[in-house]
Amino acid sequence: MDRLALHLRPAQLETYRFLNWALRWLRWITLAVLLLITLVRPAPNRGSLPNWSLILFFIAYNLLIGLLQHWSPNLRSFAWVALLDLLVASALYLLSTEPGGPIFVLFFLAVDSAAASLTLRDTLLYTAALATIAATIETMLPLWSSTSRDIRQLISRLVMLGLVGAGMAIVSRRLALEHAAAQRNQAEAGRMEELDRLRLEFISTVSHDLLTPLTASQAGLGMLEASIAERLQPAERDLLSNIRVNTEYLGVMIDDLLALNQIEAGMLRIEHTPIDLCVIARTAAATVHTLVTEKRQMVDLDLPDTLPCLGDARRLQQVLVNLLANAHRYAPEDARIMLHGAATGAEVHLSVHDTGPGIPAGEHEAIFQRFYRVASPMVSAVGGSGLGLAIARGIVELHDGRMWAESEAGQGATFHVVLPCPVRGEEA
Ligand code: ADP
Repeated sequence: MDRLALHLRPAQLETYRFLNWALRWLRWITLAVLLLITLVRPAPNRGSLPNWSLILFFIAYNLLIGLLQHWSPNLRSFAWVALLDLLVASALYLLSTEPGGPIFVLFFLAVDSAAASLTLRDTLLYTAALATIAATIETMLPLWSSTSRDIRQLISRLVMLGLVGAGMAIVSRRLALEHAAAQRNQAEAGRMEELDRLRLEFISTVSHDLLTPLTASQAGLGMLEASIAERLQPAERDLLSNIRVNTEYLGVMIDDLLALNQIEAGMLRIEHTPIDLCVIARTAAATVHTLVTEKRQMVDLDLPDTLPCLGDARRLQQVLVNLLANAHRYAPEDARIMLHGAATGAEVHLSVHDTGPGIPAGEHEAIFQRFYRVASPMVSAVGGSGLGLAIARGIVELHDGRMWAESEAGQGATFHVVLPCPVRGEEA
């Protein structure tokens, strides 16, 4: 059965749906066709029952089945209906004097009904039993002549019976499996959504809870450094400064985690207040000052007097801090990091350039995916989460801006940020 649980292509599924619809209506379709044939080309009655009386009987019988199914929940199962069909067809067979003919129709309906609710194997067994009964009774009827015409007719009916049984069983099983798979997928999608919601909630709570003690520790460390730095040995001073640098990193990482969480949940609200990107760039450079001096690096600022814009000061500062922190981490000691800013028409262009190892060609876009890190011993040696650039681009895009990387082998890397700043001037 599992072999049938393959996923269907949309066109295939439509065909199966149509066949299933036809299967459900086959009883009525068959009767309509029979009625039409009897009316258009009345065949001479060969047996004791006139053809039209059989058709009327089938219609009455099917109406009765429909009513019974409507009233009795037990009869809703097609297997029950199939059994009734089988009993009625056998009785008709025994009462009639002529070979098969329209009574075979009831056998078809029986097979078709059974196929809708039985497994493929059971339907085949059911069909085989039906075919044996039909063949036995038909050859015992008085009008049966063992002429090749009667034999051919009997064989072709039996073959058709087998085909209808197998075909319908496959169609309905496949649809049932597809339906079950769709339901499973839906349940799984619901579960994943719930897990995702819990994950976002968890990260948000934990990050908030982490930020409070971290901010207190940073403030305490700052005060400690200011008051006792003079009295400390150089090694102790280094240790203290190391602790401060690491708590700053931790702060940036928690901030990133919170921002990513909000971006993913579509909850990051961007303020559009008048800002000066020059002030933001200088604040970002000051934020990473302790970090860069650790490696004897320098941040060169190449900025005009002012770069007015509308945006979210805190978030744009986070973008620049991320870029400067990356430049500091991936560039060697004593390197110069360049932060450049300029207004071009209705846009402001900011860029951060470093003289580090650069980014391999072909990975300039990939590095903006979350958790993506270039596979190199140097990058692995420098710790990182692979989230900074994804967050930075997320924030820039929420400002309707663009962000990309440029790098040539051995020439370092340059990260560009372009923000639309149509309102410039007195607002800032
Ligand atoms: P992280 O730096 O924490 O790994 P990011 O998202 O900030 O995460 O950066 C993704 C990857 O892009 C980094 O792992 C690194 O391989 C590469 N990268 C980012 N900035 C630079 C840079 N200035 N120089 C070289 N590679 C960089």
